[in-house]
Amino acid sequence: MAVFKLWRKIRQNGRVAEPAGPRPQRLSCPKAAALDGSVQLRHVDAGSCNGCEIEIGSVFGPVYDAERHGARLVASPRHADALLVTGPVTRNMAVPLRRTFEAVSEPRIVVAVGDCAINAGEFTGGYGVQGPVADVVPVDVAVPGCPPEPEAIVAALRGLTGR
Ligand code: SF4
Repeated sequence: MAVFKLWRKIRQNGRVAEPAGPRPQRLSCPKAAALDGSVQLRHVDAGSCNGCEIEIGSVFGPVYDAERHGARLVASPRHADALLVTGPVTRNMAVPLRRTFEAVSEPRIVVAVGDCAINAGEFTGGYGVQGPVADVVPVDVAVPGCPPEPEAIVAALRGLTGR
């Protein structure tokens, strides 16, 4: 019965995804050519306030639906070829972030999401903050904003897949 109700709701609502827009003209970093149109991402919260996570949640929800562009979140860095990193890197997260980076497969792309990941943002100078993501692992793509709009995150991911 519950399945029937769900099926009826899906029929009533139809597709809720935003229109996809044209394909990106070029890849956002040279390493993305090795991805061949599909990127598996491991997300690491290095010390975020969780504002960026809410936007990432939207990016992979039904409205922005980043999976249709070939981007997918995975549970293990061993299944990933890129990292999606949010927040400034706290002192406690510097070593785990470095180890997670080392566990990711080549081309091992790092996407820094949000101002905190790019330059420590609101948390600059905090006693528990080591610094921006680039102080710990090499950053290939940066998505500015506090938090970035889901459209900007989707555009950055489409720049990796070319779709
Ligand atoms: S960029 Fe803004 S929303 Fe994202 S973790 Fe920093 S303070 Fe929070």
